[in-house]
Amino acid sequence: MDNTSTINVCRGTGAGECRFALFVDEGFAGRIEERINDSGWPEFLQQRFGDNINRHKMVSVSGAACPNGCSRPHIADIGLIRACVPVIDHESCIGCEECVRQCPDEAMEMIDGKVLITREKCLVCGLCTNVCPTEVISCSRSGWRFLVGGRLGRHPRLGIELPGVYTSDEVLDLISRCMKIWMDNYVDGKRFGWIMERVGHDKLLLE
Ligand code: SF4
Ligand code: SF4
Repeated sequence: MDNTSTINVCRGTGAGECRFALFVDEGFAGRIEERINDSGWPEFLQQRFGDNINRHKMVSVSGAACPNGCSRPHIADIGLIRACVPVIDHESCIGCEECVRQCPDEAMEMIDGKVLITREKCLVCGLCTNVCPTEVISCSRSGWRFLVGGRLGRHPRLGIELPGVYTSDEVLDLISRCMKIWMDNYVDGKRFGWIMERVGHDKLLLE
């Protein structure tokens, strides 16, 4: 059954399709759909609504290959944004400040001859790893940011971001947990974000 989920990915998730995109594992969208189907979600909706499953009842998942979020992960039930946590090899840095100039979020600055990253500003986009001419910036962790419960409609809200960066396997496990929580606490006419506001986002991390 394939009418119980909508999975959107930005064009950057295809190899070489966007200059801002971080690498995304081939076939990842298909693995997400498999995981949702394995959770029992299709049967769950079928039992409740029979053939009357419209778009408003489906789970929406959106994956973007960078924080620009062209596939709109911030308003999906489950939003994924590709991430690279940058780390600098200060010993090999030549101090050219190209990274400081190019960081879109003004998260880098040169202080006393050393480039520092302000973690609160950094969107882990990984751009600095590509612009450094001496390739001394690398990803200390690659994966996904994970957002929960975004929606439009009468009471729109952006997804709440879980702390951390998750590997693809961890993302799939989190999606399984999301589906279980949604089904265990299902309320007709309410989206996942509404459920999570009541259940609490800690529940997702603790299970
Ligand atoms: S990862 Fe992106 S936001 Fe963070 S410091 Fe590098 S360029 Fe700036
Ligand atoms: S771009 Fe690379 S070499 Fe230049 S200041 Fe930044 S980290 Fe150092």
